Amino acid sequence: MTDCIFCKIIRGELPGKFVRKEKNWVAFYDVSPQAPVHILIVPTRHIESLQTVSSNDRNLLGDLMVAAHEIARDLSVDAGGYKIVINNGKQAGQIVMHLHMHLLGNLNKSPSFPV
Ligand code: 5GP
Ligand code: ZN
Repeated sequence: MTDCIFCKIIRGELPGKFVRKEKNWVAFYDVSPQAPVHILIVPTRHIESLQTVSSNDRNLLGDLMVAAHEIARDLSVDAGGYKIVINNGKQAGQIVMHLHMHLLGNLNKSPSFPV
């Protein structure tokens, strides 16, 4: 989508500090971290939120969950535990209207983060 910040990051039109780039999803650091490790896992296809997915997206949604597991492992935040957050729609605090999963780790190292 032309005006979408995350589509622009995925296309390389805006900077992003990528952790992984796969065909169906990418992962990059959140520009305004709410935890010592804060990664966004984002489908490459523009989907607004879980409110607009269908049964055709089962594989993709499964891939995002496995991606969270792999990235947490690769960044060494899996052992202590980590939080996954998906905000869906404005009432839930979704600001960027391109589906994304927040991966928040090392939460014990900075209890001041209001996650
Ligand atoms: P939401 O509230 O929509 O679930 O979360 C959007 C997230 O995107 C926020 O945590 C915000 O810091 C992050 N974000 C917004 N703009 C940018 C950007 O240009 N680059 C990166 N890396 N993250 C962004
Ligand atoms: Zn988008």
